[in-house]
Amino acid sequence: MDNLTNINVIKDIFERHGFTFSKALGQNFIINPSICPKIAEMGNAKKGFGIIEIGTGVGVLTNELAKRADKVVAVEIDDRLIPILRETLSEYDNVTVINADVMKTDLAAVISEHFEGLEVAVCANLPYYITSPIIMYLLESRLPIRSVTVMVQKEAGVRLCAKPGSRECGAVTAAVNFYAEPKLLFNVSRGSFMPAPNVDSCVIRLDIREKPPVEVTDEKFFFQVVRGAFSQRRKNLANSLSSSLGMEKAAVIGAIRAAGLSENIRPEQLSLQQLADVSEQLYKMGEVK
Ligand code: SAM
Repeated sequence: MDNLTNINVIKDIFERHGFTFSKALGQNFIINPSICPKIAEMGNAKKGFGIIEIGTGVGVLTNELAKRADKVVAVEIDDRLIPILRETLSEYDNVTVINADVMKTDLAAVISEHFEGLEVAVCANLPYYITSPIIMYLLESRLPIRSVTVMVQKEAGVRLCAKPGSRECGAVTAAVNFYAEPKLLFNVSRGSFMPAPNVDSCVIRLDIREKPPVEVTDEKFFFQVVRGAFSQRRKNLANSLSSSLGMEKAAVIGAIRAAGLSENIRPEQLSLQQLADVSEQLYKMGEVK
């Protein structure tokens, strides 16, 4: 069904199905007709690709993905939307809707079951209450995917696409940069949604790297250090790491110095390589278990 950005069409569907928006599930549906074609086109929805969509709503983006890609698997948590999607996606035989929480879905199994012989990408207008956990779940699962193209809250997009070493950088920036090359694609105003959220949005694309740009001995330990480094934003690196990892401050300072850095450096000043260097020094010391 093509006119799912038309408010009257949506209202009619909702009335017939007795549907009301759930704020708790982050349900802000796109009503600006220019957005979904752009997400699909910039998000690798094309021949030879299978697309995973997270959170279908009424299927406005799903339609655009199904028109362009070979196959779409959409994961939607709200079972009230399933009968609606049966109606709005009825003309496509290349769409499978899975009624589930994406965080509890084995996406590697979805890929091998549905996308044999295809390249894979993720496209979504993410529910904002769970943006970072979903992105980290996708990246940490090391799925065989080319890209993740998602609409997120503007502030989250700026943080996710910040350059490590810049003021906006946080733990999630460092983690995202380890797995992918992030890019801010375009901004979307709050008026593009029904109901309109209190914040503006943006669409970002994470192009998955073939291999991380820095080498670390133990990835799990590295991410423990990254989370620890950014756990107390007003503190310097030495204080943050010593309190979050429960280490002697002198030992942390020793590791920071051995990595060639000043003991007063703040976490947001560190490049990914410098974070890796500090992590390797701490790892060598065997201070954190
Ligand atoms: N794609 C639609 C659009 O752009 O209009 C809907 C986007 S809306 C921001 C987010 C969607 O994600 C909602 O349909 C919501 O029910 C769904 N959702 C929320 N949490 C989810 C989860 N954990 N797993 C799967 N879907 C979820």
